[in-house]
Amino acid sequence: MDKKISGLHHVTAIANDPQRNLDFYIGLLGLRLVKRTVNFDDPGTYHFYFGDARGTPGTILTFFPWPGARRGHRGVGQIEATAFAISPDSVGYWLDRFKEQHITAEKTGTRFGEDVIRFADPDGLLLELVASPVGAGVSPVNARRFAIESWTNSPVPAEHSLRGFHSVSAALEGYERTAKLLTKSFGYRLIEESGNRFRFVASSNSGPGRIVDLLCMPDGRAGHVAAGSVHHIAFRAKDNAEQLQWREHLVELGYNVTPVIDRTYFHSIYFREPGGILFEIATEPPGFTLDETLDELGSKLRLPPWMEPARPEIEQVLPPVKIPAQQ
Ligand code: ZN
Repeated sequence: MDKKISGLHHVTAIANDPQRNLDFYIGLLGLRLVKRTVNFDDPGTYHFYFGDARGTPGTILTFFPWPGARRGHRGVGQIEATAFAISPDSVGYWLDRFKEQHITAEKTGTRFGEDVIRFADPDGLLLELVASPVGAGVSPVNARRFAIESWTNSPVPAEHSLRGFHSVSAALEGYERTAKLLTKSFGYRLIEESGNRFRFVASSNSGPGRIVDLLCMPDGRAGHVAAGSVHHIAFRAKDNAEQLQWREHLVELGYNVTPVIDRTYFHSIYFREPGGILFEIATEPPGFTLDETLDELGSKLRLPPWMEPARPEIEQVLPPVKIPAQQ
């Protein structure tokens, strides 16, 4: 395989109450709802996509909100924490904002030289904001783009906005086989290690979401994926042809890989990595402006064409929600 993975495409997690989920990610964290659709495998459930102003791959956190869903618990074979990058000048802003909004957040001290703020969403999903200067480990999505074209309805000023994923931390019983997949196949490099944390970075030199930290936890208990847990993480592929090459390569390595699945806004393949976490490879095209203009992103419930005939029934089943700051 001569191709390399350039970083994350999205992270998908499970939530409980959809309104609470919208209020937290839009109203508090200032992300944009870039797509409001349904779970294609369970159309009575929403699928929310949050991201930057444009829905750039590498900034996208998505949720399946299942009202009444039980909470999972963190453990090995799971993503332990999902981190967004912020400007180093935004640490004070975010600590103040969490305090004002009565969200428990702690500055955990530096990790590989960068400040980390840790907090949880209303379902207990562990999140981090990592103060990351341009060029150190991860690049902001595009600092100029945020200043010029920032989504103006965000309650968070553009200079303090989240700049896409910094990294994910994967909790594993043993890290070697996952490390081998990242380095030998995906083209990642081990750049730092400290204690049980091993940091891998994509070899591409731009774009968000280039870091994966593997946490070696041989004594950890297995996690249970439910509300408040990451369901899977997706890496990005440039196009359909590249995705097919990845599929072929992974099958050759002995992985069970799904056929290509049409997720409307991207195409997906899924497989379970050696540590038990569900990995996806998603194509960058066609993207979220497939069925809405940039201005309209997230403003209406979008359904894939094959579900449109059932729209009245689907809308009746979905719990009503109010989109904060977009009304
Ligand atoms: Zn996905």
